[in-house]
Amino acid sequence: MTDYRRLRVALLGAGAVGSQVAALLRQHADELADRAGARLELVGIAVRDIDATRDVDLPRELFTTDAESLILGADIVIELMGGIEPARAYVLQAINSGADVVTANKALLATHGPEIFDAADQVGAEVYYEAAAAGAIPIIRPLRDSLAGDRVQRIMGIVNGTTNYILDRMDAEGAEFGDVLVDAQRLGYAESDPTADVEGYDAAQKAAILASLAFHTTVPLDAVHREGITGIDKSTMDAARHAGYVIKLLAVCERLDGGSGESISVRVYPALIERDHPLASVHGANNAVFVQAEAAGNLMFYGAGAGGVQTASAVLGDVVSAARRHIAGGVGVGESTLANLPIVAIGRVTTRYQITLEVDDQPGVLATVAGILSDGRVSIATLEQTVAGEEANIARLVIGTHKALEQDLSETVSRLATSGVVERVVSVLRVEGE
Ligand code: NAP
Repeated sequence: MTDYRRLRVALLGAGAVGSQVAALLRQHADELADRAGARLELVGIAVRDIDATRDVDLPRELFTTDAESLILGADIVIELMGGIEPARAYVLQAINSGADVVTANKALLATHGPEIFDAADQVGAEVYYEAAAAGAIPIIRPLRDSLAGDRVQRIMGIVNGTTNYILDRMDAEGAEFGDVLVDAQRLGYAESDPTADVEGYDAAQKAAILASLAFHTTVPLDAVHREGITGIDKSTMDAARHAGYVIKLLAVCERLDGGSGESISVRVYPALIERDHPLASVHGANNAVFVQAEAAGNLMFYGAGAGGVQTASAVLGDVVSAARRHIAGGVGVGESTLANLPIVAIGRVTTRYQITLEVDDQPGVLATVAGILSDGRVSIATLEQTVAGEEANIARLVIGTHKALEQDLSETVSRLATSGVVERVVSVLRVEGE
């Protein structure tokens, strides 16, 4: 057996991901040593409750509640506790004591990323976070390293497994949102408090991380426009299917070329995509990230966006990278935010839309609707009129628009809603994917 140098690895957290990381570090110790060029010695695991039952068997003597002492003297600190505090304080302590950090904590990076990366820069430490966006899927390293010589134009990601599971089942079974959510909670796909997933907060954190990397710009979480999927009901799903679309919760990070120079837009919302788009075939709780780069063209990264052991794979990849850097020496890659592009508000974004209205089924109504759209600089691409269910004198209009400015579109929809001929604005969805 090769006599490798030993690196001390401290693990913070032994929950769904941490316990799997600990088990794999121990099971594959020899193989990992050969790959990393160093023996990765798990010196301790900080938890809240030493006696809690764990997903895997681990020696009791590894556990401690004293995270601070564990961090001191570690070469690599793996933070898998989640949440902001005390994770932030421990990560900063690790950096300042000379360790490299591996974390899967999207909430922490989306809110305190600049502070953490700056602290790492100051001391020449490195922060690795492959598992913080889209779980097991390698997307951070491709954006940070593989595409470092290219220019990313757009990222469209299905980065939240819970919402994809819900929307996929609503689409496949014609089920209602509330029924599928209850089922998803029973099966463990959704938390008992599903807000972070269904309201798009989790996806927004990942969007902020991906956009920061892709556009070399610090993207604060509050610059990400966010909408969730709670407004999507069976009738919206049916209308989308009928028009040849599927609805997905998308994280869209886009480079915009305007007269006054480049800017970016980062947004999370349920959107329509054509059924033959690669993202339409992402089913169940899977994730996928579709990247469009100037030279590379279209790339798609697909796989498990969560799960303890799957996420542990990404974490261990980072641990091996950190170990190699320790052995080879030299400064880390660091975060490049030098482009510092302005981030535009959602009102300045242009997309296509599908507007579904219930209107009075009377002569002249169509002309009134068309007039309001045209006055609002929203141009009609397709229009379909059907009778709305059992209701007498009510027609349903499904209007597909050409690209329009979000601000124009929302003002126009407000005008339609109060026009006197529109009974109900059933839904307004963006169309993404061209
Ligand atoms: P988890 O199951 O809730 O486990 C959290 C662990 O951290 C527990 O072992 C807990 O100790 C420990 N912990 C929490 N607060 C602590 C404190 N103040 N001091 C010491 N230990 C503390 O979390 P997880 O699902 O493994 O997620 C960990 C991280 O990975 C999160 O940032 C999450 O967003 C990210 N992530 C998770 C997944 C996934 O599929 N689960 C996927 C991608 C990314 P006790 O066990 O003693 O309570």
